[in-house]
Amino acid sequence: MRTETEGDEGLLAVEAALDRLLAQVPSELPTERVALAAGLGRVLAEVVTSTTDLPPWDNSAMDGYAIRARDVAAASEDAPVRLTVVGEVRAGHAPDAAVGEGTAVRVATGAPLPPGADAVVQVELTTPLDEGGERGPRGRDAAGPLPAACLVHRSIGPGTAVRRRGEDLRAGQRLLEPGGALRPADIAVAAAGGAPELLVRRRPRVAVLATGDELRVPGSGLGPAGIPDSNRPGLLALAATVGAETLDLGIAEDTLEATLAALRDGLASADAIVVSGGVSVGPYDVVRTAFGQLGRVDLWRVAVQPGKPFAFGVAPAPPGAEAPDGRVLLFGLPGNPVSAFVTFELFVRPALDRLAGRATAPPAGDAGVIDEPVRKAPGRRAFLRVVADRDAYGRLRRDGRGRVHVRLAGGQGSHLLHSLVAADALAVVPETVDHLEAGSDVELRWLDPPAGHPS
Ligand code: AMP
Ligand code: MG
Repeated sequence: MRTETEGDEGLLAVEAALDRLLAQVPSELPTERVALAAGLGRVLAEVVTSTTDLPPWDNSAMDGYAIRARDVAAASEDAPVRLTVVGEVRAGHAPDAAVGEGTAVRVATGAPLPPGADAVVQVELTTPLDEGGERGPRGRDAAGPLPAACLVHRSIGPGTAVRRRGEDLRAGQRLLEPGGALRPADIAVAAAGGAPELLVRRRPRVAVLATGDELRVPGSGLGPAGIPDSNRPGLLALAATVGAETLDLGIAEDTLEATLAALRDGLASADAIVVSGGVSVGPYDVVRTAFGQLGRVDLWRVAVQPGKPFAFGVAPAPPGAEAPDGRVLLFGLPGNPVSAFVTFELFVRPALDRLAGRATAPPAGDAGVIDEPVRKAPGRRAFLRVVADRDAYGRLRRDGRGRVHVRLAGGQGSHLLHSLVAADALAVVPETVDHLEAGSDVELRWLDPPAGHPS
């Protein structure tokens, strides 16, 4: 019997598979405190509020002289106003002099505005005078010896070059909301708000296992029938882009015993296990059987191209393991390298994001148009590797309707990594379609690497 979530061949539609899988994601990972410097890329688990007004006090935006604006109201290039310099405030020092009528206090950028002053005249608009009234060079470096007096060559209004207390941040103001992966600017604003550390979710622990008798460690001899194991390094790298702590379970041969043994290692220390290969219908495809023996298989076979044999299940973590709710997510990705990559993006990434407590919107599709005809399997959503049209500077070109023109990045077989590496984006072609004419609209999913994280 077919349900409405199934397409041709009884395959599960992409959204139905994703919904079913996300429903199994356990509670968010526990939290931990990390120093600011270790926060990059981590998922924030608290509201960060400012502990201070910033600036904490009115301060100077310029190197110059703190003055009373009314004292220089008549100043001009030809008729500068003379002010007696009565002191100095350096950055990081409290003012030791106040500004009164006809006086100025030399002030550095970022130093507190001394009492009595209501404006700062930048040093470039002044000329220093020594004890004897001798003029120094106009706009002399504000770090020179403190002059006895200065000439101000321009009238300035009150508030000029003054940065007001709390102009940037207010004490108690919400600076960051939970659920975001921390970016450099977030770290900076948390620091500016006075936070020494941040409450973040522990990283998801993701174990990766490759299965296949034919797999060899890259660089080792291939013998008569071996191929390099490219999925394991690739999937470990993909997991790292989700901010995961990764665990390499190595290569298992195509036997139930070897697969079970490797998966048990993963269950003891991971929140999720990503397996490549062995989920298809061949006699040695034992991964689903292994999932079933350790836990259960929740879904298998999705209406997607490439990636159809994708499987997902859940297994109990052994006693003492740290997986939330004692549940470990099991992802069985097809062995073909592009299938593994695409199903990671479609299913593993959203699940890990949810586990990690990251608030994510579904990836925004961009508008594209494909400049050549393509054929695809009906009944499955296709993700075509495409390259975008660019100008001589490498910038994306968009047509009058804002669309990016794309062409196939190479062969679309699910074993062809060279076209994945060449691709800028995946062009999404709906299930209902079996071919596209040149000039057809397509939705694009960009393959830009997500912001890196420090591990
Ligand atoms: P399977 O899903 O096990 O039937 O594998 C499908 C195809 O992907 C076969 O051609 C495998 O040799 C290939 N394959 C499986 N695992 C890997 C891997 N880790 N790296 C590269 N290719 C793989
Ligand atoms: Mg295999």
